[in-house]
Amino acid sequence: MIPNRVIVAGAGPAGLLAATVLVRNGVPVVVVEAGPGPSPAGRSSTLMPSTLGILDGIGLTDRLLDIALVGRSIQYRKAGGAVIADLDLDVLTHDTRFPYLVQCEQATVCALLWEKLESEELAELLPGHRVVGVTNDAYGVVVNVETADGPAEVAGTYAIAADGTDSVVRGLVEIGFDDPGEEGRFVIVSTTFDLREVVPDLAYVTYVADRGSWVAVERTAERWRVTIPLSAEVPDDEATSDAYVGAALAALFGHDQPIPVDEALLFRAQHRIASTFRRGRVLLAGNAAHETGPIGALGLNLGLHDAVSAARRLSAVVQWWDEDEELDWYERYRKKVAEELTEVAWLHTDEAAGTAAVQTAAADSDAAHDLLMRTTMLDSARTSL
Ligand SMILES: Cc1cc2nc3c(=O)[nH]c(=O)nc-3n(C[C@H](O)[C@H](O)[C@H](O)COP(=O)(O)OP(=O)(O)OC[C@H]3O[C@@H](n4cnc5c(N)ncnc54)[C@H](O)[C@@H]3O)c2cc1C
Repeated sequence: MIPNRVIVAGAGPAGLLAATVLVRNGVPVVVVEAGPGPSPAGRSSTLMPSTLGILDGIGLTDRLLDIALVGRSIQYRKAGGAVIADLDLDVLTHDTRFPYLVQCEQATVCALLWEKLESEELAELLPGHRVVGVTNDAYGVVVNVETADGPAEVAGTYAIAADGTDSVVRGLVEIGFDDPGEEGRFVIVSTTFDLREVVPDLAYVTYVADRGSWVAVERTAERWRVTIPLSAEVPDDEATSDAYVGAALAALFGHDQPIPVDEALLFRAQHRIASTFRRGRVLLAGNAAHETGPIGALGLNLGLHDAVSAARRLSAVVQWWDEDEELDWYERYRKKVAEELTEVAWLHTDEAAGTAAVQTAAADSDAAHDLLMRTTMLDSARTSL
């Protein structure tokens, strides 16, 4: 076995960032991924200021700035288009070198991280390796994988489970969840129609208040993506129909005709947090550790923060720092951050409470600063990485 090698299960954003930080700290890694390469899932599109600081540390932020869009404010609007609040990220200028949002597809981040790892001697990338078993004892971790050539074993000293919401590793090391929240249903709509033709000053990240909850509107270089919470009375098949989605977009943006859509996907999510983020030599990171709703850009950013924290703790451990102290620190602080962020999620789910908070912030720059420090995760990044 390669001494002190860390196994990373999953080549999504969390796993690939953890692997990158580990090799930069001189720790060998092996990434086992069920799919044929880095996760191609588009999904999230907003990288927050706190995350840009992290990605800058591995030389990625400049590359992203070359290809992505930059958002300078977060808007809140009423259905129909009227502005409730426009929160300028400039209030964070003294807190970060990156007082803006970078809008790019999650898949682009994964592709760039994978490319970086391919050139690292300390990284071994194993696509087409699906984890089906784990042995986690005082001597190390062995994962059993299924491959096109049959079953195999991969051995390491520690492991990071970054295999997503339905994490197999989490199940294999017998970690359950704290009380899960209610499941929400959403329709995620992508359109290459430029919504700025209808609402010219629409910010790249906008939340639209609609019938008690918030709809998230995000722009990448390729498309606009609109995430609409669904009420119980809308059946699944109707929710993704052209008629429903086109009319919903027209109502949200005050347009007198249906807006053309390229894709509408039904998505179910709930707020739930793993009961512990550590079992022996295995740490959970990203969606394997917590699931948030798709509104608020929390999932991806929280996962990337977990990744860097897990990698830093494991890098310290292999340099002979106290294992339990470091790994318990990870478990304690990252779980606390996930709990706190789940608590602030009301801002982007509860229309009345969110409206009051953003109107207060729009009227007072100190209040705007406090709110944005929390929602862009600059606060939690200072204490828990
Ligand atoms: C439809 C949708 C919309 C979303 N919208 C947003 C948004 O707007 N904002 C936001 O912040 N977040 C959003 N999210 C959440 C965000 O995409 C996730 O938080 C993020 O992908 C988590 O990254 P991850 O690396 O933890 O897991 P994932 O991205 O799920 O990656 C897990 C990886 O593990 C691999 N894997 C799985 N099982 C195994 C196994 N047994 N063995 C080996 N490999 C395995 C998978 O193939 C995958 O590559 C959305 C999610 C979805 C599904």
